[in-house]
Amino acid sequence: MNEIFLKVNQDVLVSELQQVRPDMLLVLAYFSMFCWKNRLQCVVTSVFEEVIERASDTHKEGRGVDVSVRGFGPKDISDCIDYLNENVGHLGAYSFSDNQQRVAIYHNIGFGNHIHLQVAKNPTMEVIGGKRRKK
Ligand SMILES: [Zn+2]
Repeated sequence: MNEIFLKVNQDVLVSELQQVRPDMLLVLAYFSMFCWKNRLQCVVTSVFEEVIERASDTHKEGRGVDVSVRGFGPKDISDCIDYLNENVGHLGAYSFSDNQQRVAIYHNIGFGNHIHLQVAKNPTMEVIGGKRRKK
């Protein structure tokens, strides 16, 4: 397979990715799969970033990663958020604001629009994938 699995921004140390939580790597794998299916680039822009991600410790705890949405249209972004929440949403962190569990958030905290991926403080490695009942 000649497809790029994961591209890392030049500001990010590749070794940082080896220190993130395994459930975060799983979320990244799903993100990569979404990008591959939709012919979008899959680029990690920040792992243990220096910038302050307001109201969240996820980055410094190795359970938050930012990915680029360059080349994504509005529908790609919402499809991506839906895809991740459907497939690995149960791994997501609980938001301070409303206590909702989310694995992917599209936002701009002053450094450009991006998707913030996050996993819960206490990992719940459940069986993923497979057939699920429609809600
Ligand atoms: Zn972030």
